[in-house]
Amino acid sequence: QKPKERKPDWIKIKLTTGDNYTEIKNMMRSKTLHTVCEEARCPNIYECWANRTATFMILGDICTRACRFCAVNTGLPTELDLQEPERVADSTVQMALKHCVVTSVARDDLQDGGAMIFAETIKAIRRKAPFCSVEVLIPDFMGNWDALKVVMDAKPDILNHNVETVERLSDRVRAKAKYSRTLELLRRAKEMQPEIPTKSSIMLGVGEEWDEILKTMDDLRAVDCNILTIGQYLQPTKKHLDIEKYYHPDEFARLKEEGMKRGFSHVESGPLVRSSYHAHEQVKSASST
Ligand code: SF4
Ligand code: SF4
Repeated sequence: QKPKERKPDWIKIKLTTGDNYTEIKNMMRSKTLHTVCEEARCPNIYECWANRTATFMILGDICTRACRFCAVNTGLPTELDLQEPERVADSTVQMALKHCVVTSVARDDLQDGGAMIFAETIKAIRRKAPFCSVEVLIPDFMGNWDALKVVMDAKPDILNHNVETVERLSDRVRAKAKYSRTLELLRRAKEMQPEIPTKSSIMLGVGEEWDEILKTMDDLRAVDCNILTIGQYLQPTKKHLDIEKYYHPDEFARLKEEGMKRGFSHVESGPLVRSSYHAHEQVKSASST
């Protein structure tokens, strides 16, 4: 259906607050820590925090790009905080996380796109929280493969880079990013560290056709991408890209089957799935393949 008006029932969120969630929430208040989970008001926060998974945004909150689906502010960032890696590592300890996702805005103003800070954050978490697995969800560094190597050499548990949408819509939906560059990044990451699982995410509902989704899966598998997440696009504000379609949970289930058939080691597919949803399980599934 053409959605504009009402969200279907399956988009509404069931709120369950487990013990772990409450415990972490209280601690967050007392330490004034910041996570994407809270700032993006992610619908999965109860479940993720109960599972001791959280996502941190590094390198500031102003992005040099302006993708049409994204709520992050655009501008010229000014800060580069060299203490940030240690602070994120301290937060993973304080939150007793088992899995953390580290992501950032696109810092096209920096020569290395922020790769060094990503690498230092991975190393700091390894040092301070050795039982916490680390997934990095990186920007494309404008195709600076030396910068990618800096991140890969720090050996994250999962290297995540989102394709976001199908090839035909890529230029319209994502600012400055390129479909082909995303695939090249995933291919090169795998070449640099073949044992590190790679991961990507497709956001549905921006006008893509079913066959185009399958083609995107094929393209990701062709560069040996291991883990796939598929979720529903939800418009952050009226100024952002319109939602063209709400996919039914059955369609998400069919896409999961299509993905598994194509050889992904793990496919997370559902209306509220976000890039880091159930990420702690993906570490296990990826390391057992
Ligand atoms: Fe946080 Fe990601 Fe979970 Fe959302 S899906 S609560 S952003 S870890
Ligand atoms: Fe948002 Fe990332 Fe695009 Fe920046 S590059 S606008 S943070 S999706």
